[in-house]
Amino acid sequence: MEFIDLKSQYAQMREPINARIQQVLDHGQYIMGPEVKELEDRLQDFVGARHCITVASGTEALLIALMALDLKAGDEVITTPFTFIATAEVIVLLGAIPVFVDIEPDTCNIDWRLIEAKITPRTKAIMPVGLYGQTADMDEINAIAARNGNIAVIEDAAQSFGATYRGRKSCNLSTIGCTSFFPSKPLGCYGDGGAIFTNDDGLAKAMREIRVHGQERRYHHTRVGVGGRMDTLQCAVVLAKLETFEAEIQSRLALGERYAELIRKAGAPAGLLAVRPDRTCVWAQFTVFIQNRDAVQKKLQSAGVPTAVHYPVALNRQPAYLHLGSADSTPLSDAAAGTVISLPMHPYLTESTQAFIVNALTDALSA
Ligand SMILES: *Cc1c(COP(=O)(O)O)cnc(C)c1O
Repeated sequence: MEFIDLKSQYAQMREPINARIQQVLDHGQYIMGPEVKELEDRLQDFVGARHCITVASGTEALLIALMALDLKAGDEVITTPFTFIATAEVIVLLGAIPVFVDIEPDTCNIDWRLIEAKITPRTKAIMPVGLYGQTADMDEINAIAARNGNIAVIEDAAQSFGATYRGRKSCNLSTIGCTSFFPSKPLGCYGDGGAIFTNDDGLAKAMREIRVHGQERRYHHTRVGVGGRMDTLQCAVVLAKLETFEAEIQSRLALGERYAELIRKAGAPAGLLAVRPDRTCVWAQFTVFIQNRDAVQKKLQSAGVPTAVHYPVALNRQPAYLHLGSADSTPLSDAAAGTVISLPMHPYLTESTQAFIVNALTDALSA
């Protein structure tokens, strides 16, 4: 059993993916080839945003977004400590300070009620994450940002691409939306890739330039940038996968519901993630809360069920971030870090495999 089964997916889409890759090999424009613009146009339509800028990775997307906002040393960015390290890493890389706000225990997303108290004159951005595939309370966060001097809101949608919030698509919910096409994300390529979305023409222009070394035209550099382009080959892979993405999302939604139903029926002492009624969760990870996590994880492993922990340590407790002095400030993130476990999840998971996994989980929890 695979935690994320990319081989089954490839088996289903072999022809279109191979054909797309072959086209790139034939035209040979490996950097900024025609597939780059084609993908940006398609993703823009999918998300409903005015601009899409493909970039080298999800991390690069977040970095370029912050650079476009002209983040400076000493500026503050409010974010969650219960996320992948990249979210805070890009802030620190620019010399700015991540200000960690605790999570809602049932969704594991940043608790918007705690944000306003953390705003200072140095706050340059708020960076909520759509953890596990469900967006944060974006409208509440946007309202806080608007009434505090129009602070920018960057959505880290690396896990929530394809999810909806109040009828709108993740990545088109705030100033800037960033996503990742890392192979295991809901929409993945065959290497690294990512994309940035915005409705702001000025920011879009800045981010396009920053992506290519801050150049306005070739060898004329009007700002400091990065080498942050997405390869044409990776864009070709995403273009092929985009054809079935809507069907895969439907499959993810159904699989999430079936997991919840199986766990409830089994009476397993596992807490389910809350999904708010005004949004969907695309289940980048299907994560539940359990006691004795490490022992249960070992038992599942011996039963042949691969699992993962997203994430075992809150970012403000990571050795590299202890100097921020905020390690003890987010108890609910610490509690989640001790109890979360992610079960195998991908659009090609069968009903019988899900039943097998929930049986193994129930056994492991009762033993
Ligand atoms: C995966 C991920 C990233 C980084 O994406 P990469 O493409 O791996 O650089 C950032 N934030 C979150 C929440 C992620 O899950």
